[in-house]
Amino acid sequence: MKFRYDVVIVGAGLAGMRAAIAIAEKNEDVSVAMVSKTYPTRCHSVCAEGGTAAVFDKEDSLDLHAWDTVKGADFLADQDAVELFVSECPKEILTLDAWGCPWSRTEDGKIALRPFGGQSLNRTVFAKDRTGFHEVHTLYERILQYPNIEIFSEYFLTGLIVENDEIKGLTAIDIKTGELTLFEAKAVILATGGAGRLYGFTTYSHNVTGDGMAVAYRCGVPLKDMEFFQFHPTGLVPSGILMTEACRGEGGYLLNKDKERFMKRYAPEKMELAPRDVVARAMWKEMIEGRALEGEHGLYIALDLTHLGEKKIKARLPLIREAAINFAGIDPVEKPLPIKPVAHYTMGGIHVNKNCETDVKGLYATGEVACISIHGANRLGSNSTSECLVFGRIAGENALDFVLNKDFKLVKEDEFFEEERKIEEIFNKNGSESPYAIKKELNEVMDNYLWIFREESGMKKAVQKIKELKERYKDVKITDKSKSFNTDLIYTIEIGYMLDLAEAVAVCALFRKESRGAHYRLDYQKRDDVNWLKHSLAYKTADGVKVDYAPVTITKWEPVERKY
Ligand SMILES: Cc1cc2nc3c(=O)[nH]c(=O)nc-3n(C[C@H](O)[C@H](O)[C@H](O)COP(=O)(O)OP(=O)(O)OC[C@H]3O[C@@H](n4cnc5c(N)ncnc54)[C@H](O)[C@@H]3O)c2cc1C
Repeated sequence: MKFRYDVVIVGAGLAGMRAAIAIAEKNEDVSVAMVSKTYPTRCHSVCAEGGTAAVFDKEDSLDLHAWDTVKGADFLADQDAVELFVSECPKEILTLDAWGCPWSRTEDGKIALRPFGGQSLNRTVFAKDRTGFHEVHTLYERILQYPNIEIFSEYFLTGLIVENDEIKGLTAIDIKTGELTLFEAKAVILATGGAGRLYGFTTYSHNVTGDGMAVAYRCGVPLKDMEFFQFHPTGLVPSGILMTEACRGEGGYLLNKDKERFMKRYAPEKMELAPRDVVARAMWKEMIEGRALEGEHGLYIALDLTHLGEKKIKARLPLIREAAINFAGIDPVEKPLPIKPVAHYTMGGIHVNKNCETDVKGLYATGEVACISIHGANRLGSNSTSECLVFGRIAGENALDFVLNKDFKLVKEDEFFEEERKIEEIFNKNGSESPYAIKKELNEVMDNYLWIFREESGMKKAVQKIKELKERYKDVKITDKSKSFNTDLIYTIEIGYMLDLAEAVAVCALFRKESRGAHYRLDYQKRDDVNWLKHSLAYKTADGVKVDYAPVTITKWEPVERKY
């Protein structure tokens, strides 16, 4: 099967949908395909709980939002991109408001704001604790109004077709039939989300496997800052389901076994609302130094919401209450919740500039799959959904400009056959290794050696172990040999993607000999701006990962010591 669209967007989360709308709003003649492996309303964005950052408070300012973001990022963010980002956030909130997003309101009808970690003032717009759900549905309803956007749900991206550093199209498996499908395109926007399932204990949906990053990486596009993975302080034990930062934003406490609000020893000013890297490290320290609680699933910290009262919990955190009752058997109105830090966000991603352009002409990336970078070494809560809206639109607008007055570059039969051959090769695999055992071991490597505290010997072990897993992966067995809805094949390809990405994470982390943001090394506990104020760029080569570096853009804010 073969299709041809001016722009093909891969991914139907917040970023991909926002990009599609940006194109269709401006031009009704440009054809757009939105391709995704899940239905749009089942993207991971739908899980976003706490909110979306934007300046609305009269006391607040764009500069303050930018400063908080840059400081939160431990100064690794590109400040020109951050300034562009913060200036566009309020417009996006109002746009979604006009499109019907049911933002929570104050008594006098204004858009309500709640505090979030690392913010100087209340800056998080929200829709109860189901923000992502409402944002996704608002965008999806909007998409349905445009006849020039065609939706291809349950198509799984397998390769990009690039010639002379210019994009020509992509291939995707039509999951329903199993057929490899060619999409010719003048421009491609990757919006496939993060890579959180590299880890075992994580808040991410099972389908967040970093596919777009891996496919671009395999085509020679570098991945930026992959060593920076965010650990969110409050994952429900044992499932890892997120207990939103809004729990602390609304006034929740973190307690150790002595019922002490221990954050006073780590971040006396911000307490529980210090940035995530700071809080997660403090919690882990409490755990390893013997001050955590212990239950049937091991050590944990208590998230206490009981003092907020039933009325507030039901009004502001209904999803949290429901999830805690269903998945831990505890009602937060009555008792503190068992939580511990959990893998939550991929700061790194496809290397793009602030126009969302890669070095391949016509290839764009936006949302969590991309690294612009506005989050640097540590993202502030609620900046990610804003990023998807702002840079989704920017990617769409730039792709539209790019395709106007351009011709298609035709994909040669051989190029398609080569992609088909690669998929056939995996489909026919009949080896002795279970892909799921490999995935489990990969998750263990990441959870053990590339977690909150890292050090050289562990990371070396990780690099070695990932190499071994990659070797074993060559000998996997695909048990299901049917064509239609062959999830065995899809999952196995995803695991191959994750092995490539894990290698990039491990190698970049091993090379970076400093502690910055979420990358904390016990053997190099200080930030080192002289040698390491730079982005890592990982390239895939025949000999493994090659790491290069790129400068950080500083406009107004020189790095200073980070205190909260
Ligand atoms: C539990 C949770 C709560 C969060 N809460 C917040 C919050 O309150 N505020 C905030 O700012 N951020 C939050 N985040 C982060 C934020 O939600 C995400 O970073 C953001 O929504 C990612 O959006 P996206 O559009 O980039 O990708 P996603 O929403 O992940 O969408 C990816 C899309 O790509 C498709 N796709 C993936 N691989 C392929 C493939 N191989 N072929 C075809 N299609 C593919 C998927 O089907 C999907 O449509 C949260 C994250 C989690 C996990």
